[in-house]
Amino acid sequence: MGRNIVLTGMVISAIPIGEYDRRITLLTKERGKVAAFARGARRPGSQLMAAGPFSFGQFEAYEGRSSYTVSKADISHYFRELAADLEGAYYGFYFLEMADYYARENADEIHMLKLLYRSLQALESKRFDCRLVRRAFELRAMAINGEGPNVFSCLKCGREEGLRWLHVESGGVFCEACGKDRGFLPAAGGGQRAGEGSMGRAFAYRLEESALYAMQYILSSDIEKLYCFALSPSVLEALGQAVDAYVRRYIDREFHSLAVLEQNERFAAPGILSGNPKSAVANNGRTGYNI
Ligand SMILES: [Zn+2]
Repeated sequence: MGRNIVLTGMVISAIPIGEYDRRITLLTKERGKVAAFARGARRPGSQLMAAGPFSFGQFEAYEGRSSYTVSKADISHYFRELAADLEGAYYGFYFLEMADYYARENADEIHMLKLLYRSLQALESKRFDCRLVRRAFELRAMAINGEGPNVFSCLKCGREEGLRWLHVESGGVFCEACGKDRGFLPAAGGGQRAGEGSMGRAFAYRLEESALYAMQYILSSDIEKLYCFALSPSVLEALGQAVDAYVRRYIDREFHSLAVLEQNERFAAPGILSGNPKSAVANNGRTGYNI
């Protein structure tokens, strides 16, 4: 026999089923990733209508033998402003898709849930460049799931100073001297990914100190305090190239939302999708976050 349970979490995907129903995927504090049926969720006036992507709250569900059925949704935060903002929504959907990719049923996903919540909040606040939020989310999500790079000590000699190269294939950084020994060639952005150069020399990403510090901070800070810094355009660009190569090497999934996001970035006029400081607004003390 099944039983009623209360789950705290966020809707990370919703698919229409039949005429009025919806199948939702929740990232929860208690049970990790949970697929649930929301009967009548698309019927006008249904209390479950609010249970769409980005909504965070408490969900009452009936736990059947092989599936869950949501009976009540008490949504405490919708990320409404995010959903209404084209650029933010693209990034947000990508974060949801990556959370879905990594999360497992009955696994402890509390860190992933916190990261997702904080990252969506950072997007919504418009206080940060979306590209920075994206790289921080990607890097930290990979680390939470055991796939992050070692950026704290040289993979060869163990030194913690003078780290200059990120070698994607090796999963971490090398100091200047060890990088020289390995004959690393600086990987150029865009087309040239990590791989072999001429005469078998490997490409690696040359990291300026500030880009390295940014990676170290993203990987070690308290998730609650993750979003509290900005980077210059050139450092953000360098960080973006390195993280991008890392994601493409270790995540064997083409994210649909990422393809849409990148297509829009490519065609957008400068300034329109790249964050406008003039539109920055303060995050006016949002509530409803109590993971
Ligand atoms: Zn070294």
